[in-house]
Amino acid sequence: MPASAVKSVALKRKLTEIYDRLLAAYGPQKCFLNHETPFQLLVATILSAQCTDKMVNRVTESLFRDYPEPADFAAMEVEKLEKLIHSCGYYRAKAKNIIAAARAIEERFHSKIPNTMEELTSLPGVGRKTANVVLADAFGVPGLPVDTHVKRIMNLTGAVRTEDPEKIEARLSANLAPEKWGEFSHLVIQHGRSRCPAGRPDCAHCEIRTLCARGSKHPEKKA
Ligand code: SF4
Repeated sequence: MPASAVKSVALKRKLTEIYDRLLAAYGPQKCFLNHETPFQLLVATILSAQCTDKMVNRVTESLFRDYPEPADFAAMEVEKLEKLIHSCGYYRAKAKNIIAAARAIEERFHSKIPNTMEELTSLPGVGRKTANVVLADAFGVPGLPVDTHVKRIMNLTGAVRTEDPEKIEARLSANLAPEKWGEFSHLVIQHGRSRCPAGRPDCAHCEIRTLCARGSKHPEKKA
């Protein structure tokens, strides 16, 4: 077992408490990216790198209406897709990866997006974070996506002490029940957007202040 995946009773308690408090604060979360199929979620997740979910949803509304299936993207010229996704940023790399992934799905997986980490990460441009989003939100398979909010907040709380997303995923998933992985990620992302944005965390009013290495140094404030 890698050092990052070591189980710890104290960490398990802490993560479960963070989960419970954030769930009480924000309620059950749904996937932030609009999609109707696992393939569409894969495309939306690739588009979401360095881009807001709001912008991705705006772009995919017409994109998925006109091109809903892997075969539609597999047959597309890269320049055409670049124009369609231009406003998401990094459009050249994203268009190239989406078309290559769609072609691989057509050729190797008979038009059906795979549902295992190993197969998903074998697709061009698909890393563990994207694969975990698809597993958790499209297939209901345990997956714990580590995005910038999860990385930052888990370091702030002291739950992890590394910037390496794979080590963070291993440590969190070793100490949380698998059925909580996807929702835990959603809740921490929601917390990062509303209470604990980068550079201006509202520690005085934070729901998990007493569980957070940084927040416990701040005095509590009445709401
Ligand atoms: S206590 Fe502060 S740093 Fe810790 S999670 Fe809350 S807002 Fe972020």
